[in-house]
Amino acid sequence: MNIVLFGPPGAGKGTQSKMLVEKYGLVHLSTGDIFRYNMKNATPLGKLAKQYIDAGNLVPDEVTIDMLKSEVEKNAGAAGFIFDGFPRTNAQADALDKFLTTKSSQVDKMIALSVEENELKNRLKERAITSGRVDDADPSVIQHRIDVYNKETLPVKEYYQAKDKYFQVDGVGSIDQVFDRLCVEIDEVLV
Ligand code: ADP
Repeated sequence: MNIVLFGPPGAGKGTQSKMLVEKYGLVHLSTGDIFRYNMKNATPLGKLAKQYIDAGNLVPDEVTIDMLKSEVEKNAGAAGFIFDGFPRTNAQADALDKFLTTKSSQVDKMIALSVEENELKNRLKERAITSGRVDDADPSVIQHRIDVYNKETLPVKEYYQAKDKYFQVDGVGSIDQVFDRLCVEIDEVLV
């Protein structure tokens, strides 16, 4: 079972992914986490990605797609994946589709966490205090990430809608409430 968790920066994808991994035994692939790990360790990939990430831009598709494929390959025995932060462009969605097809697999569902913009900004401001993330620290970078999301990432919703695979849950409420809403959607894949 492969689930794409979708939503703007600050929607709660990371928090929910951790809980979903425990419940469903899936492997969590967060492109943001993988990039940050590479930046922390100053790998060539990290050095390349840093300039884009700190400015709130997307890392180029080719780089991101190659990285994602290699992470999937590393987890060959996995029961399935939660893709978090990927795909973020239609080109990435297309690449993921083709890649999974070669593995006789597919994306079963994209589930979006819906949270309105003011709430996102408040959450990211809070997160900045503890995350140490350069891209959380500056309100203009946060605004830019939200703009990039609306322009480049939101079209991915239509990509999955066209395949009847797009579902949305309310991302506002307690962490447990949101988790329960996601579980309802995932359990439907399992029956
Ligand atoms: P958030 O959900 O708060 O935007 P992420 O941790 O998902 O944060 O991503 C942080 C940054 O990493 C993004 O702003 C972008 O620069 C880069 N990134 C993550 N995933 C992708 C992707 N699929 N394609 C391109 N860039 C990505």
